[in-house]
Amino acid sequence: MQKKTFIIANWKMNMSVNNANKFIKKLDKLNYKKKKFKEIVICAQFLLLPSLSKISRKNILLGSQDCHHEPQGAFTGDSSIDLIKFFKCKYVIVGHSERRKYHYESNHLIKKKIDLISIKNLIPILCIGESLEERKSKKYKEKIYGQLNESVSNKIKKLVIAYEPIWSIGTGKIPSYDEISEISNLIKNFFVKFRKNCDLSIVYGGSVDSLNFRKISEIKNINGALIGGSSLKYSELKKIVSSIN
Ligand code: PEP
Repeated sequence: MQKKTFIIANWKMNMSVNNANKFIKKLDKLNYKKKKFKEIVICAQFLLLPSLSKISRKNILLGSQDCHHEPQGAFTGDSSIDLIKFFKCKYVIVGHSERRKYHYESNHLIKKKIDLISIKNLIPILCIGESLEERKSKKYKEKIYGQLNESVSNKIKKLVIAYEPIWSIGTGKIPSYDEISEISNLIKNFFVKFRKNCDLSIVYGGSVDSLNFRKISEIKNINGALIGGSSLKYSELKKIVSSIN
């Protein structure tokens, strides 16, 4: 059977309301032949979600790029999981390296977010990955293992892990297929051994485009990609989506 492939767009802090609406309407009209094997998710900034949630969609799911770890309260400037759910998101990205860097998010905090997202029956997309220094000094496996161990509890029933080496995000540099494969096997083995009850999918993220998407998705234990820059260009995303028709 053909494996399930995720195409997860991380739009970051980009797109106007108009452009986002037009983009989604156009993308949704593409005729997806093998729909049940594809999960196309657009993760948009919070303020786009109310408008995007009103567009009728047959082929595209919505996700947010973060959430707060508490359900509600005195947390000025943050967004709650209940509103994310209200605006029809099915997925929530957590632990993106930009959140870890600019908002000092720790594995401990990310664990709380994952627990809350799961309790609310949404699906967390957990981003993990090493820096260039960690890769060069051969500490990358340790880093990834620690991120998994500290942020995913035994209770989690469904999860997407996005392996995103920090040095590959927005740089045009991607690891070799063997390097991606090594990490996807490590992640898979961690779950088989220590988090048996979790329905896990693994995607790769970092400088994915229409030229490398297909080959990356064919790697064993990889179910598609989390895509930043290329997901903002309609022609690129269209090619990526069509490449698994
Ligand atoms: C990302 O930031 O999640 C990402 C994968 O970005 P890019 O595709 O631009 O490298």
